[in-house]
Amino acid sequence: MLDHFDQEGFLQALRQNLHREYRCEIEEAAPWQLHEALGEAVMEQLYSDWRASLQKRDQVRRAGYLSAEFLVGRAVYNNLLCLGVLDEVAGLLAQAGADIGALEEIEDAALGNGGLGRLAACFLDSAATLDLPLDGYGIRYRYGLFRQQLVDGYQKEAADDWTRFGDPWSVRRQQDTVQVTLGDQVVNAVPYDMPILGWGTDNVGTLRLWQAEPVEEFDFTLFNDQHYDEAVRCKNKAEDISRVLYPNDSTREGKLLRLGQQYFFCSASLQSMLRDYARAHGENYHDFGKWYALQLNDTHPVIAIPELIRLLMERSLDFLSALAVAQETFSYTNHTVMPEAMESWECSLLRETCPQVLAVIEMIDEHRARDLAGRGLSPMAAARYRIIRGGYVQMANLAVYVGHTVNGVAKLHTEILKETVLHDWYKLFPERFQNKTNGITQRRWLRLCNPELSALITRLLGDEAWVRDLERLKELERYAQDEGVMREFAVIKREKKRQLAGFIERQEGIRLDENFLFDIQVKRLHEYKRQLLNALSILDIYYGLKEGRIQDFTPTAFIFGAKAAPGYVRAKAIIHFICEIAKMIDGDPEMDGKLKIVFVQNYNVSYAERLIPAADVSEQISTAGTEASGTGNMKFMLNGAVTLGTYDGANVEIVKAAGEENNYIFGARVEQLDEIRDSYDPKRIYEEQPRIRRVLDTLIDGTFSDSGNGEFAELHRSILEGASWHRADNYFLLRDFLDYQEKKLAANRDYRDRLAFSRRCWYNLCNAGRFSSDRTIREYARDIWKIEPVK
Ligand SMILES: *Cc1c(COP(=O)(O)O)cnc(C)c1O
Repeated sequence: MLDHFDQEGFLQALRQNLHREYRCEIEEAAPWQLHEALGEAVMEQLYSDWRASLQKRDQVRRAGYLSAEFLVGRAVYNNLLCLGVLDEVAGLLAQAGADIGALEEIEDAALGNGGLGRLAACFLDSAATLDLPLDGYGIRYRYGLFRQQLVDGYQKEAADDWTRFGDPWSVRRQQDTVQVTLGDQVVNAVPYDMPILGWGTDNVGTLRLWQAEPVEEFDFTLFNDQHYDEAVRCKNKAEDISRVLYPNDSTREGKLLRLGQQYFFCSASLQSMLRDYARAHGENYHDFGKWYALQLNDTHPVIAIPELIRLLMERSLDFLSALAVAQETFSYTNHTVMPEAMESWECSLLRETCPQVLAVIEMIDEHRARDLAGRGLSPMAAARYRIIRGGYVQMANLAVYVGHTVNGVAKLHTEILKETVLHDWYKLFPERFQNKTNGITQRRWLRLCNPELSALITRLLGDEAWVRDLERLKELERYAQDEGVMREFAVIKREKKRQLAGFIERQEGIRLDENFLFDIQVKRLHEYKRQLLNALSILDIYYGLKEGRIQDFTPTAFIFGAKAAPGYVRAKAIIHFICEIAKMIDGDPEMDGKLKIVFVQNYNVSYAERLIPAADVSEQISTAGTEASGTGNMKFMLNGAVTLGTYDGANVEIVKAAGEENNYIFGARVEQLDEIRDSYDPKRIYEEQPRIRRVLDTLIDGTFSDSGNGEFAELHRSILEGASWHRADNYFLLRDFLDYQEKKLAANRDYRDRLAFSRRCWYNLCNAGRFSSDRTIREYARDIWKIEPVK
């Protein structure tokens, strides 16, 4: 909230921008024109606070968040909200004959795949609010995560041209351009800075995204044909580096380019930090780690470690001194326990892209071998810690060995890291391991997306302090006994469901009844997240309703949203299967007023902002031990939904905080799965359980058509036989099926007593305080980065 937001000046600037750029008045402007002009006007007002914040950074120890993904979503509403002028601007526009809602047409900045990228965005928001000197560093992808369309139930991908109508929230800082060498190619890295606004502060953070460009400015008019082609080729080759965000899960393709991207943004970020450092503190680079703390968001930016050492050696530090600086500077967050997702790079790829860095990695690994021998490890024992193994660089090993801290993202996840994936490292360096349970920003995920519920909370608490201090929600618990408040709470939920239904009707052409129970599963599509389990359970409900086995069922809308990585065939088959079930139910008049499935298209941050406040039941059903934390689960909780979920990731902590009696927890726990893993026989369950057999067999018995490509039969096989390097039913759908179904129906039954159900939802809301990313970022600042608020 800037002290000096000048409404008059703002409106005048808005008008001038529109006149100058588009020769139109406010009421005539197209949404994108309004967005451009409004963005520009806001940026002008921000300018002096942003500059002051940047200058303060030079005086203090600061932190940088290195991440290949920042899923920031739409900036305009959040920025106006944080400036404290969202309602005023909406009013001013309305007076001038324009609708602020028209800006819904503005594309999200989807520069991330899912939770990991959204976490990075929430962290910047929290740090800005808490006056902590943290800035983000990443890539300005020309195309973000693909736009998804469903055509006849099949996912179709289209390029996400997110800056098509401009990007008023970024400032190109040409003067801060640096050069990065990739193989035999030198490219310019040009930074685009986005301001990150906090709530109730004039501190402004920065997200610096690097764009790749050719070093030379080409004047195409001067070239003959041959030169012209060569110039175009060269320009494209440079621009390729920041052209597309890689949808994870399908990393086999374009490996070289992806490695190039990682090196590109890490090198550019470090060069610009070293430049700032020299300007502020002189050229004694030995002290770099005293002023900079750098967090590696997963292994994607781990190449920054050898790159910093290399850059320091170029600035005349010897290897050991440079290594010591790197050790002081870096810490690493692990986001996955799946062995196949542990990143490793073939040495030959590194040799091609950045041989100078591979040489440093070799030095680090040699040093490690000597170091561990010095600690008394036998060569055999030390071999388990190799950074280069079998011709591959193990990025996690590099990060854990050099970094001073490793953290998991939920208690359970950190324990699993210590016991399994990083167990050897934990034995060697137990003091390096920490847990930092993820969080979400309540500015976007409650105050912005649910103004109705926010207003109720503010009224009951007497002020808006909870927007900066989410633990205040705990004080609301006593209202659970106040029927008036509970009724009001239920009315708000219904209103959010009505709004969502309207939106879905406009977007998807599908009608929903807001009197239905809304059961929502939205997240990336992945086998471990078990959307297929949800689909099969809906089929079982369908047959149960038809047969009369299920009585007194509360009419339910099951809502899905998910993108599948383009190369992930099985995930796409699951989307298609869900759409086929939806079609069958729509075609069955008996299901009218009882059951409905919707698969919304192009799930992204802005869609999430509409879906999550409207949920009664939040589906968080990953196989125990697979979801590192989850953050979707926290967003739902904060908006007053119950969790139908497994003991996995942060669900464990959510349920502990909000009470098991207020949630619906099912399924095998990690320890139980570890016990049965080797003897698990899904075929036996299939043979013994007719309900399970029936729903699973719809994949092959002609109930649904897979258009002859065998994708449904392949799904069936993956459960009963196992396929492509996985065991049969690798994610234990059949093991958990009946327990899941029981809890799902229990929630459905409980929903009939609206008052009691609202109470359950309310307890979830009241206990969401711990899951604010403000808490998480305070812990990082205190325990890992050692940074203080700047005043
Ligand atoms: C929060 C969020 C996610 C992460 O959801 P999970 O359920 O934790 O996997 C993914 N995508 C978007 C758009 C989000 O807002």
